[in-house]
Amino acid sequence: MKYIFVTGGVVSSLGKGLAAASLGTLLELRGLRVIFQKFDPYLNVDPGTMNPFQHGEVYVLNDGAETDLDLGHYERFTNCVLSRHNNLTSGQVYESVILKERRGDYLGKTVQVIPHVTDQIKARIREVADESKADLVITEIGGTTGDIEGLPFLEAIRQFILEAGPENVINMHVTLVPFIKAAGELKTKPTQQSIAKLREIGIQPQVLICRTELPLDAETRQKLSMFCSVSPKAVIEARDVRDTIYEVPLMLHEEGLDQLVCDLLHLDCPTPDLTQWRKFVDRIVNPKKQVKIAVVGKYIDLQDAYKSIYESLTHAAASQDCRIDLKLIDAEALEGGVDGQLKDVAGVLIPGGFGERGVEGKIKAARFARVNKVPYLGLCLGMQVATIEFARDVLGLEQANSTEFDKSTPDPVISLLEEQRGVTNKGASMRLGTWPTKIAPGTKAESLYGSNEALERHRHRYEFNMKYRDQMKEKGFTISGTSPDGALAELIELKDHPYFLACQYHPEFQSRPNKPHPLFKGFVQACLAHQS
Ligand code: GLN
Repeated sequence: MKYIFVTGGVVSSLGKGLAAASLGTLLELRGLRVIFQKFDPYLNVDPGTMNPFQHGEVYVLNDGAETDLDLGHYERFTNCVLSRHNNLTSGQVYESVILKERRGDYLGKTVQVIPHVTDQIKARIREVADESKADLVITEIGGTTGDIEGLPFLEAIRQFILEAGPENVINMHVTLVPFIKAAGELKTKPTQQSIAKLREIGIQPQVLICRTELPLDAETRQKLSMFCSVSPKAVIEARDVRDTIYEVPLMLHEEGLDQLVCDLLHLDCPTPDLTQWRKFVDRIVNPKKQVKIAVVGKYIDLQDAYKSIYESLTHAAASQDCRIDLKLIDAEALEGGVDGQLKDVAGVLIPGGFGERGVEGKIKAARFARVNKVPYLGLCLGMQVATIEFARDVLGLEQANSTEFDKSTPDPVISLLEEQRGVTNKGASMRLGTWPTKIAPGTKAESLYGSNEALERHRHRYEFNMKYRDQMKEKGFTISGTSPDGALAELIELKDHPYFLACQYHPEFQSRPNKPHPLFKGFVQACLAHQS
């Protein structure tokens, strides 16, 4: 088993996750089996209780784990399927250590960061390696070198390298080489200092991934190599990509990263076949058409909040040789009226969300799409607002609402799931993970999926209230997908509308570059048809 630890230096947001995922793509295309793991040094047990402004999107896995969005990159860039074991936070580490202490597992001892916390971290690395049967584990350490909270993880890695042997482990450090305008130069000092910090802990990186706006000149490469003690060919340039993140594996391959890693780890494998990946990138970079789609959400200023949705739209668009001109609209700005903002779009997508803010604006956007026959895709909360809108406007239940937003509504068309009634803890307590959906024959959903069953990932507490099913159905609101026992509505669609589909689950977690999700693909096709 071989191990790659990915650390980051100088500043956050350098794209460590993307660098790790891209290396995974290249190694997988060389025929190796790759598994990923992310360490997050914060004390939350998982990011599920964090606000998107703090954390970005919460990525949900098949087993219901609420995880860091980097796990989304890993699953999209490779064929790996991850579980809750693949995202470890300090909160989880301390929780297990304290549990063991109370049980008496350390009886007689003082429980300390070294060795008890570091042992716990190392045990997790081995567990992931053993369970996966992969050839290689890529572990990304969140945060930046020098952070106090990251120290136990780095110490655990130092010990791990000693135990596994240097021929089996490498550290790939992602760093920033800034261009200072006044000096007209690329500067290596921040990287030197970041490496010095790593060395203080006892870790010497073998590979440097250098994020830079400009090409690294020979002198800069030489300096980085010398000061950081890595071979010149291990100074890898990672320029800002122009068009799409899917170019990153191609760029890193050009720089020789995958060959270098194979050499360092004594892995004998063929060069990667990048044909399919190149074709996919080419379709994104050279689109034949363009289509304008509105995403109406609460966190549109934050690039990371709807990450998987934007990626799913990209995958679907590429499959149609088209590019999406995204119009990001703050839902609150629509509360006064939508026409001006939505009249130029060929489709409306409403993502998931929690809390009352912006809901009335989303309801107005759903109404605009329904009435004007503009393609609509609703995800989770996007299905709930479409339901509320239909109940209010078509059934005339003017005060219809979700009990999440109005506890005393006379018409709770969306209400708390039965299983949620006694739940008081907020962490990991929603309806989570993959559940089957039974798809009704003769529906648009059936033709899109090409199947009567779908397995999709969930993250919600509220659900369509089946008491309203018949009244809604009479007016053309079809429940096209339910849980296998028929008790929960999972997918709805409107009759007499070119494309109005909304689901209680999150299809955005299952879209892949060369395998767009059917609901996204159908949506983009409908948007293209609408605009022409
Ligand atoms: N807030 C809604 C619920 O809990 C929707 C959740 C979501 O969009 N992920 O049911």
